[in-house]
Amino acid sequence: MFIINWPYLSRNKIVKKICIVSALILLSACGGGGSGGDDDEAAGSAVPFFDKPFDANFPVSNLFDHDVPLQFVDINGYTVDHNGIQRNIGVPGAYVDGHSGHDWLLPTGTALKSVADGEVVFAGIEMFVCPALPGSPVVNQKDVRVEHTASNGDFYLSRYTHVDTIAVTVGDMVNSGQNLATSGNTGCSTAPHLHFQVYRWSPSHNAWITVDPYGWAAATQDSWAQHPNGTASVPLWKAGQAPTLVLQ
Ligand SMILES: [Zn+2]
Repeated sequence: MFIINWPYLSRNKIVKKICIVSALILLSACGGGGSGGDDDEAAGSAVPFFDKPFDANFPVSNLFDHDVPLQFVDINGYTVDHNGIQRNIGVPGAYVDGHSGHDWLLPTGTALKSVADGEVVFAGIEMFVCPALPGSPVVNQKDVRVEHTASNGDFYLSRYTHVDTIAVTVGDMVNSGQNLATSGNTGCSTAPHLHFQVYRWSPSHNAWITVDPYGWAAATQDSWAQHPNGTASVPLWKAGQAPTLVLQ
């Protein structure tokens, strides 16, 4: 149920794309440090465009922690889901403090599909020290990441982690629903599952920032949107496409 938050950066490509977007909608100059915090405002106009990443439904063991979704950094002992519900660590939905995505308990071999049209920007193995496993071993984690462009010009990454087999390579242009991989138990993981994570490119941070594809539905403020290293989450699932969040 664990994964390191391992940001993917493709800055040359992104700067190029930001230039194109800037020219189209008359934003700030190309290649600079960003537009000074207006990325949240832009995100508000994103049209939901994600389809389901897998068929059927599976229980979820970890939810996105809006109270600082940075694993091994956030250790305050509780999580906050997109409905603002707080859970103490150790109960279903909150086994991992600072969880940066959603964990569904897919059996190994389940087909994983791209949530939208896009370009494969990573497909392979990442090696890193996993402090969540006994002895903090170096793990070989298989991972696929696809970059998408939303209707408002925002850039998103969808990330499929702990996979078993990979069906795509970097540079492939994929369609929504196209098979990317099969789920597995590779890397910083203790049982077969899919860690699904989404990032939005933040011009003001000049970085990919993890976001919750379920948005933020509570009446209170989203602490991740208020955090200096955070950003707002907006709903990204098309109608009827959001995988259910039935706790394990
Ligand atoms: Zn996870």
